[in-house]
Amino acid sequence: MVDKKWVYLFNELDQAEAYVGGDWDRVRGLLGGKGANLAEMTRIGVPVPPFFTVTTEACNAYLAEGQKYPAGMWEQELVALEKVEQASNKKFGDPSNPLLVSCRSGAKFSMPGMMDTVLNIGLNDETAQGMARLTDNERFAFDSYRRLIQMFGSVVLGMPDEAFEDPLEEFKKEKGAKTDTDLTADDLKELVVMFKEIVRKYQGFDFPQNPIDQLRLATEAVFKSWNGKRAIDYRRAEKIPDDLGTAVNIVTMVFGNMGWDSGTGVAFTRDPSNGEHKLYGDYLLNAQGEDVVAGIRNTEPITKLGDVLPEAYKQFLEITDKLEKHYRDMQDVEFTIEHKKLWMLQTRNGKRTAHAAVKVAVDMANEGLISKEEAVLRVTPKQIDALLHPQFDEASKKAAKKEGRFFASGVNASPGAAVGQIYFDADTTEKMAKENGQAVIMVRPFTKPDDVHGMLAAKGILTSEGGATSHAAVVARQFGVPCIVGASSVRINLTTREMKSNDIVVKEGEWISVDGGTGEVYLGKLDLTVPNLEEQTELMTLLTWADEIARLQVWANADYPKDARRARSYGAKGIGLCRTEHMFFETARLPIVQRMILAETSEERTAALDELLPYQRADFAGLFEAMDGYPVIIRLIDPPLHEFMPDEEKLFEEVITMRCKGETKGLAEKEKLLASIRAMHESNPMMGLRGVRLSIYMPEIVEMQVRAIFEASADCTKAGVKVRPEIMIPLTGTVNELKWIQPRLEKIGKKVMEEKGINFPYKFGTMIEIPRAAVTATEIASLAEFFSFGTNDLTQMTFGYSRDDAERNFLIKYVEEGVLAKNPFQTLDREGVGRLMRMAVEDGRKARPDLEVGICGEHGGDPDSIEFCHIIGNNYVSCSPFRVPVARLAAAQAAIKNK
Ligand code: ADP
Ligand code: MG
Ligand code: MG
Repeated sequence: MVDKKWVYLFNELDQAEAYVGGDWDRVRGLLGGKGANLAEMTRIGVPVPPFFTVTTEACNAYLAEGQKYPAGMWEQELVALEKVEQASNKKFGDPSNPLLVSCRSGAKFSMPGMMDTVLNIGLNDETAQGMARLTDNERFAFDSYRRLIQMFGSVVLGMPDEAFEDPLEEFKKEKGAKTDTDLTADDLKELVVMFKEIVRKYQGFDFPQNPIDQLRLATEAVFKSWNGKRAIDYRRAEKIPDDLGTAVNIVTMVFGNMGWDSGTGVAFTRDPSNGEHKLYGDYLLNAQGEDVVAGIRNTEPITKLGDVLPEAYKQFLEITDKLEKHYRDMQDVEFTIEHKKLWMLQTRNGKRTAHAAVKVAVDMANEGLISKEEAVLRVTPKQIDALLHPQFDEASKKAAKKEGRFFASGVNASPGAAVGQIYFDADTTEKMAKENGQAVIMVRPFTKPDDVHGMLAAKGILTSEGGATSHAAVVARQFGVPCIVGASSVRINLTTREMKSNDIVVKEGEWISVDGGTGEVYLGKLDLTVPNLEEQTELMTLLTWADEIARLQVWANADYPKDARRARSYGAKGIGLCRTEHMFFETARLPIVQRMILAETSEERTAALDELLPYQRADFAGLFEAMDGYPVIIRLIDPPLHEFMPDEEKLFEEVITMRCKGETKGLAEKEKLLASIRAMHESNPMMGLRGVRLSIYMPEIVEMQVRAIFEASADCTKAGVKVRPEIMIPLTGTVNELKWIQPRLEKIGKKVMEEKGINFPYKFGTMIEIPRAAVTATEIASLAEFFSFGTNDLTQMTFGYSRDDAERNFLIKYVEEGVLAKNPFQTLDREGVGRLMRMAVEDGRKARPDLEVGICGEHGGDPDSIEFCHIIGNNYVSCSPFRVPVARLAAAQAAIKNK
């Protein structure tokens, strides 16, 4: 049997590919990202110093076998070393012509926490002398040697940095040297002796003089670093599997510190902050390794290299161009020039800002380097999201941290940055914002539907309780208001009107800054930068391509014309949900609504509704105008009526107080109101009298709404607007509900069209949010012309969870313990809720092949859920206006991935 191959030489990439079956991702898995790319560069003729790679499989075997090298591995490493000696024409440990190497860790994904690179391995008392002779540079040789002892000591032997740094500082002071470079060759020789002493004192053994021992210990240290605390923490956080292991790269040293015709640097093939197509980077002459990044000396911009070392620079330009074309992505490279000779030491796909990601993707597609599909895949939904919300200036954030102005953190519920004065209730928030034109951050323990007016007026929202899909979070996302929820260190005192976290007190009216993208709260004002979609031409282009590729359309949930206009400018092709009840909450209308609810006769009720009709008509007309030519789905009233009434407890308190004080004026009215509210009490209102049930119980409200919709449609049509109203009946559970209500409403619609003498296309349909509706979709679709999945309720009812209760207590534990993989209110549960949806689409289309299907729950803006909607054949997803661009990208990505 042939021994397993644990070690691959620089020119053995073909073998590695053959071993894993040709797939590049698996080559990276075997050799690590760094090793795979070094081998690939070698293969395409880019100058890379000779090297070999010990595989991740060797690392895993080592760790599995109780920290023992697997059989044959070390022998293979020694053979590979010989090949590297031949290729570089030097010999490891030979004082007359010593080979030095670096030992570099490299996992499949570049990750912090792995072992730092050790340079200059192979130096000892003799080879250091040899290097000095060979280079005619004693200073260089002994500086390299003392660096090796220091790096080896701290990185491989695990000694604390101070063990070397403190004596070094002391030594420099003694010698009157300000920086390392002031030390002479003799100083450095002395330092080598000192450092070797330190190793002996700490470790009880000598710094290994035998280069082979150095190599063995360094290889082992890389393996061990895979299970270091920092590495494990990082993997947990980034969800990188523990069984990948790290590879070890042993690379022939090249020296950028051999004089002024040598140097080292790093560069990006494009600007990683704005994506501009020009080389971006720094270099240093007469320097080694990390000197550039360490910032000890001032670096020079890469373009200047052309003036000092024109030949090497020209070659560098050719190589970076070649690498970019080869990898078809922006590269981040490291290089070293030794006596004018250029060597490449690393290449990888460069990390970039969201802005640069979009520009690079679009530019590369325009350059013909990648396809439009690839460009669309290169940008993540998160990056798009980041580009559309106001952001804090990074420098301003750093400064605030330094000044101790960090206040608290919570769940980053709705991205974006907001600066404002804090107020602790919705009414004050609205008042300060509207009357005084103040920028307000609304701070509450949690929010409820009757807080919405404050939330709308606020620049940002902060709550101390609740999770990512709590009321505050959902509404904030809906309206694109930056929001942090569940900042649990914050104690809010509604009586003294202040909040406190870690002993810092903020009083009502004081300024804070809220970063909804990161969940951080700062004291005072941070600087803001505000992005704008129309100005981001590359993003517009990318999203246009996304629309060409996507099969799903993206619509928006919008209740007001201004939201609809924004949605449209963000590329929405319709309104998937207009919630009419929000219109009832407005200050001028709420009293009328309450009068309507409390009416004792049908006449009284109709009178109140007649007052509401013009308001609603105007609301709808505004939406139709904003969405000219596109469909607008209007949902008839949905919530239980008590939501429109004053708070029962508060009212009770008022009544009691009045009785105690013997106040009689107005008492009778209050008592009557209280009695009515109590009569409306339900023990489980979300499953009680609401949605279509309410419409059957009290049809006058929806009859008014349908009249308003059709009158507005007729008026708009007359004014030249193309209207496409779609009336949505919520919470249907049985087709009989539709049979009862829908014909009545259609009759009203037809009557209005007759009255006005105008025709326009319209639809009646229903929400699918009760499992029974999904299961009986064929029957439901015999009346409903469209389905819209209300996945918030559908998830609640399918799981049998009350969302608010679930998120407040057990859901987090469920996710932590793996009982649920994800919060189903954030990411659609494909197996359960999704199965019902799939069934509903298929069965519904049996009755009505052209049934229009969409989704209007929170999930409509979640990329994973959008992909599922694509798979089951939805026509569109509908989400908050601010999510529209994200959803357009996600819809396209879903189409590409599910071809
Ligand atoms: P990191 O992943 O932290 O960048 P690297 O292994 O790439 O670690 O190396 C750290 C530094 O040392 C880089 O600047 C790299 O270019 C340099 N370096 C690594 N190996 C060599 C070598 N054989 N010759 C010269 N410089 C090297
Ligand atoms: Mg590197
Ligand atoms: Mg619902």
